[in-house]
Formats: sequence, structure tokens, C-alpha cells
Amino acid sequence: MIEMPEAWTMAHQMDETLTGKTFQHFARGALVHKFLWLSKPAEEYDAILSGKQVTGSKSYGRSIYLYVGEAHVLWFGELGGRILYHQQGQPLPAKYHLRWDFSDASVMTFNLQMWGFVGLLERSELAKHPYAEVGIPPLSDAFTPERFNQLLEEYPEKTKKGVKGFLVTSKHINGIGNGYLQDILFGAKIHPARKIPTLTADERQILYAAIQETMAEAINLGGREDERDLFDHPGGYPRLMGSQTVGKPCPNCGTAIQKISYLGGACYLCPTCQV
Ligand SMILES: [Zn+2]
Repeated sequence: MIEMPEAWTMAHQMDETLTGKTFQHFARGALVHKFLWLSKPAEEYDAILSGKQVTGSKSYGRSIYLYVGEAHVLWFGELGGRILYHQQGQPLPAKYHLRWDFSDASVMTFNLQMWGFVGLLERSELAKHPYAEVGIPPLSDAFTPERFNQLLEEYPEKTKKGVKGFLVTSKHINGIGNGYLQDILFGAKIHPARKIPTLTADERQILYAAIQETMAEAINLGGREDERDLFDHPGGYPRLMGSQTVGKPCPNCGTAIQKISYLGGACYLCPTCQV
């Protein structure tokens, strides 16, 4: 799934590469997926987009906003898969779910993995949308240690769900998914099932710092190694805790890295370091 460092990387690439291009056509590809959601029928996307120019792009947490003309925005919400740009004459993927053609014969395709939302809204609708620009992205001015503490205190499920539940739910902090979560919790030496009321003031500070450091490093490296950017290049961030390191020694203490299932997904952790 695309998390904040990948969204940040791709939004910058879209801004540089797509701004000024004119949409010629939008269509679904040959692939269908029941967990791909659009905000209106594909024909309406085509009718709205065709003839309009890309006017910029930015990310917000895990979302990418591609601005269209003066009034619209293509919103890549929480999603997994590949959003790829193809110059004129470059081969396209054999199959894809969505396709945008530009008037200069370049193309953007989207190939979904897991699930995803690709909305086309008026900018005024986006401002009112209950899932747009919710939560506070790490590294933003609003994400201060004080605000982080306040969010921890206000988490309605703090006695029921571990810290994982808080961190990956975008309406609190927007940017972290099940990928970076593992390295953040390893960096903070906190077990994903730890309940928030048991975290000491020091642990909260260390967790805050681990979020900021992990996100900053991953942005500098262009996202995770197992994700791709707009030009199909892998990111440079190697995951410490992930499916590829299960059973290998923890870099701190040598204990074998463990995989557990928790809150609807796998967690990778060091059972000695993370308590
Ligand atoms: Zn360890």
C-alpha cells in the first residue's frame, strides 16, 4: 500500500511531469477489481477530464491530489498498486485497471493491488469530504509532540486496541500503514499490541521521534524498496522488519525476527527488544 513517503514522492513527480499536460481520454482497462472504487461512473470521468489541463499535484499523508483545471481534483486515496507514467512510445503494462491518455500521446496507468479509491471531485467537494485531509501527517507543522500526545489521549479505542490501531488509522495520524509501522515500532522498542495508557512519557517521546525519523528517511530515499514510483523505479528504503527479514537476527540483539497476526494484518517484530 502507498504510505506517506510514496505519496510524497509520486505527488512531486506528478507535479513536475504532468503539470501542463491536457487529458485526452480516460477509460477503465481490461482488469476489473471489486475493491477499486471510483466516485462516479467512468464515462463521467472521461467527460469531465477530457480537454482539461493538469494544474499541479500534492500529497496529504497517504493521499495524492492531482489538480485538474481550476475546479477539479483526482484523488488517489488509500490504495495499493502502481500508478505509472509512460512517455509517448513507451510500452504499457500488459494489463491495468485504469488509464489516462494525454494529448501529447503520453499515458498514465493504474494497476490496483489490495484495494483503492480513485475519486474525481470538485475542489469544493474535497474540502467537505469526510475522508479527505483527515488526520495529521507526520513532518507537518501541525504534528507537534504536544498534538501527538493529545491524539494518543483522545484515541477512542485506547483501552481496546494496541498502539498499532492508533498509528495506522488515518483519521488520527495520516501517513502510516502496515509497512512503515513495523520499523517505527521497532525503532521505538514498543510492541504493536501495547495499550496507549501503558506508554510512559519517555516512550511517547521516543515513538514520536521514531515516526518523524522513519518518515523523513523514507522520503529522502524515495519510498520503500518494494514499492515503485511514477517511473516504475523502486524506492531506496529497506525495511528492517518485514516479510523478508522474518527469522533473521534482530539488528539490535540477535533474536530471530517474529511474525504475528494482529488487528487484521501481519506484524513483524523483535520479541526481545519490543515490549
Ligand atoms: Zn532485538
